[in-house]
Formats: sequence, structure tokens, C-alpha cells
Amino acid sequence: MKASQFLISTLKEAPADAEVVSHQLMTRAGMIKKLGAGIYNYMPMGLRVIRKVEAIVREEMNRAGAVECAMPVVQPAELWQETGRFEKMGPELLRIQDRHARDFVIQPTSEEVVTDIARQEFRSYKQLPKNLYQIQTKFRDERRPRFGLMRGREFIMKDAYSFDRDPEAAKASYQVMAAAYRRIFDRFGLRYRAVAADSGAIGGDLSEEFQVIAATGEDAIVYCPNSEYAANMEKAEALAPTHARPAATQPQTLTPTPGKATCGEVAELLGVDLSTTVKSLVLATDEVNDQGEIVKSQVWLLLLRGDHDMNEIKVGKVPGLDVGFRFATLSEIEEHFGCKPGYLGPLNMKKPVRIVADREVALMADWICGANQIDHHITGVNWGRDLPEPDLVADIRNVVAGDKSPDGKGELAIERGIEIGHVFYLGTKYSKAMNATFLAEDGKPAFFEMGCYGIGVTRLPAAAIEQNHDERGIIWPDAIAPFTVVICPIGMDRSEEVKAAAEKLYAEFLAAGVDVLLDDRGERPGAMFADWELIGVPHRVVISDRGLKEGQLEYQGRRDTAATKVAVGDVFAHVK
Ligand code: ATP
Ligand code: MG
Ligand code: MG
Ligand code: MG
Repeated sequence: MKASQFLISTLKEAPADAEVVSHQLMTRAGMIKKLGAGIYNYMPMGLRVIRKVEAIVREEMNRAGAVECAMPVVQPAELWQETGRFEKMGPELLRIQDRHARDFVIQPTSEEVVTDIARQEFRSYKQLPKNLYQIQTKFRDERRPRFGLMRGREFIMKDAYSFDRDPEAAKASYQVMAAAYRRIFDRFGLRYRAVAADSGAIGGDLSEEFQVIAATGEDAIVYCPNSEYAANMEKAEALAPTHARPAATQPQTLTPTPGKATCGEVAELLGVDLSTTVKSLVLATDEVNDQGEIVKSQVWLLLLRGDHDMNEIKVGKVPGLDVGFRFATLSEIEEHFGCKPGYLGPLNMKKPVRIVADREVALMADWICGANQIDHHITGVNWGRDLPEPDLVADIRNVVAGDKSPDGKGELAIERGIEIGHVFYLGTKYSKAMNATFLAEDGKPAFFEMGCYGIGVTRLPAAAIEQNHDERGIIWPDAIAPFTVVICPIGMDRSEEVKAAAEKLYAEFLAAGVDVLLDDRGERPGAMFADWELIGVPHRVVISDRGLKEGQLEYQGRRDTAATKVAVGDVFAHVK
């Protein structure tokens, strides 16, 4: 590719709404262009990255025996009514109508459609196992699309679905996928962890999330550095013994001020026994005026009951603490506050920073402050107070860093992650709902045993950038760089020698199958280098008259601090 033919549009400044580095850099590098909230153009430079992600995912899925297909983006509501998800799924499911007022959905995932295919196509146990996958556009009307491609509304997912004759076979299919996922994420060169996730009503451990380790991740993951143990926070908390902790130390003098209260204070005032209350969260909502000043803050308290019944959460307004509590459902809470009650993990922030933005929502659990959204924490609830006794922390949170690992092999540590993949054993949840059967060996109809497996194809490059960047820009792992090598000729328009050498090297790289770009735009060296460092091309070769006189080129890897001179013929050795 020649730069003059390509579309390169780098920006000096990141857009104001870009909060995380991957969003800033992908925008500045001209990889994505926002069209609406959570909706992006994949610009040529960005699409090259996405296509490389897809190619690796496709290769490994095929290797694992999955078969590619493509299911419609627009899907008739009838199938979604069969499983009840048309109603149950809530506002994340985008429902539309056609000209005849018939209901449709834009697929957020495709269990219904693939199960419909299976019940028509897979008639006998002899046709099983089967695994169908697609790499397809998804739409989820996320309440808070943000972080660029990390949490888009329209995004690309690889979703695979396995069909098996019995639970044992289904579990084997699951393991094949889990192994394929490890190969895939290894190839991307990312630091990640596979963590146990909640498998809902099905139980067991057959749900794992693949989390790229990054401070900006929206998920909290709990792991043991001495063993294999790793789980997401929900799973870790669900497994932790509820009352294993010493009784709370009574907080001392309690003088709650409106909007400022510790959980201990609240507990005392309300007469709530924290030893039977697994979690309590304080959730704060701000109303902000045009100048960004907070005109009204409301602090809410959520008490989760000790029996882990996430569907029954006590909600109360804290200001003044004259609250009449009532029970609310999870979805009511989500609806009301615009986010899930949950933790990012214990941040142990003594003085959390308030970042003001319109209708930001923060979750606070006493002095441990977390949010479903990174860096949106509210101050004031605990501001200026001495920290309560550590025992109280333990009572409020069920899992904290330093806890004994469930396998007894060490202490737990907590870090943040970005969910880039999820493997899930479904059992017969969908096949039963949709009466999807095959003829089993005994001649009787049996429900398919299913699994589903997702990878966030467009989230992945963002996660890669969160892990790999510096002050100059992106540092792509070779496997997904938009170009592997860029040739930067200096004075190509003036020097015939430089032009000839650049064209020759370009042709050689092409012939060797290297993904090369020749920057023939005639930019000044500084501007040209800045662009490619921002875009994050792993290898750069500079050709100049001066170097050519000595028979040399300059090579610089994106992580190198300086260029090295290499003989013209040796440059290939640097670009693997
Ligand atoms: P999250 O917890 O981040 O909302 P999820 O658990 O809802 O993700 P899954 O239903 O497991 O997502 O979908 C499979 C994969 O699709 C996820 O692991 C993630 O990588 C990706 N994904 C999900 N939602 C989005 C989104 N809004 N934007 C980009 N990728 C997404
Ligand atoms: Mg989600
Ligand atoms: Mg998730
Ligand atoms: Mg998931």
C-alpha cells in the first residue's frame, strides 16, 4: 500500500469525550470516527486491524472444528418470543418494526437463530457434535456506550454455538473452545487471564471470561498468584463464605451529615446488622449544570441481603438518613440509576476523586469506592473521615485482597480486566425453550446440549492498546498491526536515488508477503515519524540520501528508543 492512495488522517488532539487511552489513540490515529453514541466508522486504518483480528479468530475457530456461517443482523421477533427474550431482555435489545408493523430485533447475539437452524438441520445424533460460528455485527443498546470500541452499541463479535448429544460431549466441546480461545489470545500477544464466571442457573464452573489485564478495565478479577485460581468478582463473591468474618467493630461517634455517611453509620442508624448484610453500596447521582457544576447530588444506599438474592435489594435515599427502605429489583435499580449495582473492585481509595460529567453515576461502598465506570467516583460521602476499622471492610465486602484463596494455596489479589471473550456452557436452556431436538441413539428425541462462545472482535484492539502504548502513540502487537512495516523515504520528491531505493524495497517487502506501507506523501521527516508512531506500526525503515551513500538504511522498532543503521540488504532480518 502507498500512503498517497490510502486514507491517513491523524489528529493532534483527542476528542473531549475520549476518556481512556485506547479511545483517544484510535481516534487520533484515524482508525475510528464517531458517527453517533457508541456507533463508529471503522476507517481504513482501523479496519485493517479489525480484519487481522478476524483472520486470527477465524483461523483458530476453523482449526478447532467450528464452521462459519452468517446469521441475519435483523431477526424476526418470533424466535425471540419463543425463548421469552424478546420481552425479558430489557432495553439493551434493539427492537424495530417493518412496514407491516411486524417486530424485529437487531441481533445482540444469536442463540435463537442458531437454535432454529439446528432444530431443522441436525436431525440425528450422527450429525453431532457441530459448532457454528459467525463474525458479525451486533447491536446492544448499551446504557452507557463509552470508551470508543470498548463499549460500543454497534460492534463486531465472533459468536460460536456448539450442539452436542449429551452433557459430557457438550463439556468436551466447551473445553475445545476454551483451548482455542487461549491459542487466539496468545497469538495476539496480550496479557490476559481466564477467570471463572457465573454460569447462572446451570451451575458448575463451565463459564469463563477471558480478561485482558488493564487498569482501565471495567471488571474486577480475583486471582491467587500462587495457583490457578481466578474468578471474576461476582463469581468470587458468590463462592465466598458469607459469615466467615469477625464481627464488625462498632463505629464510634456517628454524626451523619446529609450526603455523608459511612456504611457503619448507616447500619447503626437503620439498625441494619452488617453481619447479615453481604454488601452495602452507596450510590451517588449528580445533576450537573452547563458549567459542569454539581447542582444536586443524591446519595442512595443499596443493601444486598446476605442470602445473595440479587433480585431483592434494599434501596434507600441517604441524605439525612431519614430513609424509608423498600425492596427493589435489580432491573429497577439499573433502570433508575443507569448502571448495575456492582463493584469494579476495591480501590482502597481514601479520597476518591470526583470527576464531574453530566449524569455520571458512581457506586460507593463506604471508603472502598468503585463504579461500573472507571474513574467516576464521588467524593463527599466519606470525605475527610478517618478510615473505620479494617474489620468493617471485611463485613461489607465479601472478597477483598489478602483473603485466603478458596484452594487454600495463597492470598487473593485483585486487579482490573477487560472482558474480551466469554465461553459458556448452556445446557438445554435454549433447546428446551425452542423445542429443538434430534433423534438420539435410542431412537427418541433429545434436546441439544449447547454452549456459546463470544469474542469481542472490535473490543480487542482497544484492549490491546490499553496494554500497549506510550506517550507517542499505539504500539501494536505485530499480529494485528495495520501495517507491519512502514518505509519512510526522506526527500523522495527530490532524490531519484531515494525514490528508486524506496520503490525497490517496497517491492521486495511485497514480494516477501510483508504487510508494507510506503509513505510517499512527501511529508517532513518529523511529521511522518510522528504519524507512524501514533498509528503504531511496529517496524520503520528510513531511507535517505546520506544513508544510501554508505549503503545503509535506518531501522527502528516501535519500542526502540533509537534507530540503528543497517546495511540495505539486512533490513529483512529486522522485520520478521
Ligand atoms: P460486558 O460485561 O462487557 O457488557 P458481556 O458479558 O455483556 O460484556 P457477552 O454477552 O459475553 O458480553 O459477549 C461476548 C463478548 O462480546 C464479550 O466478551 C465482549 O468481548 C464483547 N462485547 C460485549 N459487549 C460489547 C460492547 N458493547 N462493545 C464491544 N464489545 C462487546
Ligand atoms: Mg454486556
Ligand atoms: Mg460481562
Ligand atoms: Mg460476558
